[in-house]
Amino acid sequence: MSTKVIRSKADLAINGAPPAFDQPLHVGRPNIGDREAFLQRVNQILDNQWLTNNGPMVQEFEQRIADYLGVKHCVAMCNGTIALEIAIRALGLEGEVIVPSWTFVATAHALYWQGITPVFADIDPTTHNLNPDAVRRMITPRTSGIIGVHLWGRAAPIDELQAIADERGLKLMFDAAHAFGSTYKGRMIGRFGACEVLSFHATKSFNTFEGGAVVTNDDELAETMRLMRNFGFHGYDNVIHPGTNGKMIEVCAAMGLTNLDGHAEVVACSRRAHATYTQALAGIAGISVLAYDQNEDNSHHYVVLEVSDTCAATRDQIIIALQAENVLARKYFWPGSHRMQPYKDLFPHAGLMLPHTQRIAESVVVLPTGITLSQEAIQTVSDAIRTVASPRS
Ligand SMILES: *Cc1c(COP(=O)(O)O)cnc(C)c1O
Repeated sequence: MSTKVIRSKADLAINGAPPAFDQPLHVGRPNIGDREAFLQRVNQILDNQWLTNNGPMVQEFEQRIADYLGVKHCVAMCNGTIALEIAIRALGLEGEVIVPSWTFVATAHALYWQGITPVFADIDPTTHNLNPDAVRRMITPRTSGIIGVHLWGRAAPIDELQAIADERGLKLMFDAAHAFGSTYKGRMIGRFGACEVLSFHATKSFNTFEGGAVVTNDDELAETMRLMRNFGFHGYDNVIHPGTNGKMIEVCAAMGLTNLDGHAEVVACSRRAHATYTQALAGIAGISVLAYDQNEDNSHHYVVLEVSDTCAATRDQIIIALQAENVLARKYFWPGSHRMQPYKDLFPHAGLMLPHTQRIAESVVVLPTGITLSQEAIQTVSDAIRTVASPRS
């Protein structure tokens, strides 16, 4: 631990002052669309008495997502993790699959859960996405595929990864859980690799309470995944494939349809919040806000602060100082998937190949966002960061 002195309300001797916010301001507050429209759809579901099993809401939702992303198939699922597992199995991945460690641990777990070994490759520290050269280094005769992650909604190096996959005869799919509505070279995420997996968890920019989907242009793959998410049923009494229960329920699809109508507004709001944070935090030594490429679409849902050694406070001191103001900022993915179980015990030396991942994992803070966050609140949070991160004179 560093010996940097914490500079917060506490040691500024204004102890007893109330926190800046009465209510906790936390990362991952859900974006909730038009309540009346949602409740109307729920009433429709109850009137229909069709609660699940590929009902009309799910069918409409799948069509709208596929149209929006410009992709042939959207197979909606109960959550993003099951969607990952089903995609992995439908693609026939086996042996070893290369993934980043710098991602939500579900990316690795979805492989491990099915007896596949996740092999962690390092990232490019400027993009936080897989480094293609690092991916090459991790290929062995047992490697069957690569799962790229579009971290923070910024596209992975898709063309480079596809070139590696083609050259080495590997399958390529993407964890696009952060990337709903993002573009890569001007084209919507969703069409790349063999398939892409979305999460609609409550904490994501766009949510269906819980939910997920696999999107693909591959007819056969889509058909296999439809069977797999419903126990392999092909019509009544006819099971033609091994399967599980990965179905999205009608209420979740109703939430999705409602939130889809409001999504452009959510993105505009997040874009504004990101710009306000960036401006309010400018010029603090050792602190930077991860930028989004102005030529690409991105939900701007994640405001990612990087705290370097030149900052007067450590990353953890900033988090503690914000906590004192009732601002619950988060480390995210810390300490890296490879240092979580079971991978920590299975691959105790994985960190040797992951220097950038390890450094980034120690330097990131994700700040509160969402449609309920006011511009004033952003200013207050930023002021608190400036106070703790300013060198003592
Ligand atoms: C959220 C997330 C998932 C898991 O999605 P769930 O819907 O929560 O199961 C997988 N990968 C990444 C990168 C995520 O952020």
